[in-house]
Amino acid sequence: PHFAIAIDGPAASGKSTVARRLAEKLGLIMINTGAMYRAIAWASIQHGIDASDTEGVIAMLDRIDLRCGVRDRGSIILVDGVDAGDALREDAVNSRVSAIAAIPEVRRLLVEKQRDYLELGSLVMEGRDIGSVVFPDTPYKLYVDASEEVRLARRSAEGLADVVSQRDKEDSSRKTSPLVVAEGATVIDSSEMTIEEVVDEAMSILKS
Ligand code: C5P
Repeated sequence: PHFAIAIDGPAASGKSTVARRLAEKLGLIMINTGAMYRAIAWASIQHGIDASDTEGVIAMLDRIDLRCGVRDRGSIILVDGVDAGDALREDAVNSRVSAIAAIPEVRRLLVEKQRDYLELGSLVMEGRDIGSVVFPDTPYKLYVDASEEVRLARRSAEGLADVVSQRDKEDSSRKTSPLVVAEGATVIDSSEMTIEEVVDEAMSILKS
């Protein structure tokens, strides 16, 4: 049977890099769930729907064709046949994605698609609620954290403007599936660690 390694944490904590490295090392599929929420946020921009227009966003969910697949061992999202690619990382998406992700209907739809991925093979899945909601029964749960200062520095070192603190505040305070350390998850504080150290630590936690 296939298994899932759940990796959660706040924005720019290093969880994506760790998830990618773990997937490579272990030969697993890597699923980035943030990209799925970003794809819905991007679609709402294309459709001219305000992020605060909850009813409008919900109605859009029925109108769009959302396909979640795998390419090169990683996740790929098509909205009406289009892979938005780098546009998913743009400011316009950053500034509205948390509001979109707070809509319960959006989460219900995406969580179902996230669970479906397990049919394709064992995987590493990263996000905010993977250990708490998507795969609560998996024994493999990590929560990668870092101080706010370090996370902001990492994001700007990537040359990306991002509203990291604002998103964290919204993601932690929403009613449905807020960002939490899932029951049974092991926390890795990566603030003072190199990426190699974090990956090694993650590997030893998963083996124990
Ligand atoms: O991981 P990333 O920073 O790309 O996620 C973008 C946004 O998507 C988060 O700020 C959060 O609002 C939402 N998200 C979520 N649940 C997940 C993954 C992402 O709510 N599992």
